[in-house]
Amino acid sequence: MNILTLKDVSKIYGELKALDNINLTVEKGEWLAIMGPSGSGKTTLLNCISTIDQPTAGHIFVDDQEITSLRGRDLATFRRDRLGFIFQDANLLDTLTARENIALSLTIGHVSAKETLQRVEEVAHRLEISEVLDKFPHEMSGGQRQRVAAARAIVTNPSLVLADEPTGSLDSKNARALLESFEGMNRTGATIAMVTHDSFAASYAHRVVFIKDGRIFNEIVRGEKGRKQFFDEIMDVVSFLGGEGADVR
Ligand code: ADP
Ligand code: MG
Repeated sequence: MNILTLKDVSKIYGELKALDNINLTVEKGEWLAIMGPSGSGKTTLLNCISTIDQPTAGHIFVDDQEITSLRGRDLATFRRDRLGFIFQDANLLDTLTARENIALSLTIGHVSAKETLQRVEEVAHRLEISEVLDKFPHEMSGGQRQRVAAARAIVTNPSLVLADEPTGSLDSKNARALLESFEGMNRTGATIAMVTHDSFAASYAHRVVFIKDGRIFNEIVRGEKGRKQFFDEIMDVVSFLGGEGADVR
């Protein structure tokens, strides 16, 4: 079953085709990485899927619901109930504890206080951040903040988790911990679409789609391969692509 389907999606800024006829599907339970050099259209693609932005042409379906036609309250409800977001910077609210940050998406969704507390504890346990639940963002490491952001994204059990360069501001130790948390949330049912220019991060995914100049130009599947072997294959495509090979761990 497909959670996400993009049909002939284009996004045009003036003369520039930021997205040029993208066709893509993501299956339930899949972890997709989207790679490409800076300016290739990765964020534009993710923003169109997350409804932050609107494609100029084409159709996007999440759970068979065409999101490009949603407006107003329906759009807000859709976003709240079906999508989870993780950005490069955790974007936590500074005046709230980790627990409150995570609970916020449930409070807005009118889940009972008791259930909210239970679900926050459960997701914190899964992402190994139970010990920071009562801390404020400035009292946590960058990696812990990103895991709190991940917890906030999945506590609503969204159909699809969208992540834009989630390891972009982390050192390699914290990046690894975050990716292992993603593995955990994927194993327990989350479907993930993750934008990254980091081959190491991409090697955790099941499939990597490469975009350049707004077009998909290659796709590789991990299959039964180990992560290291998949990493080497990704590196081969990245060096073929040129450009950002140098900033890859
Ligand atoms: P990436 O995330 O892969 O680095 P982006 O999706 O941010 O790339 O950008 C793709 C292209 O679209 C770039 O050339 C960028 O300058 C352009 N672009 C992105 N957003 C806008 C905008 N709001 N207005 C005009 N051009 C934009
Ligand atoms: Mg980007």
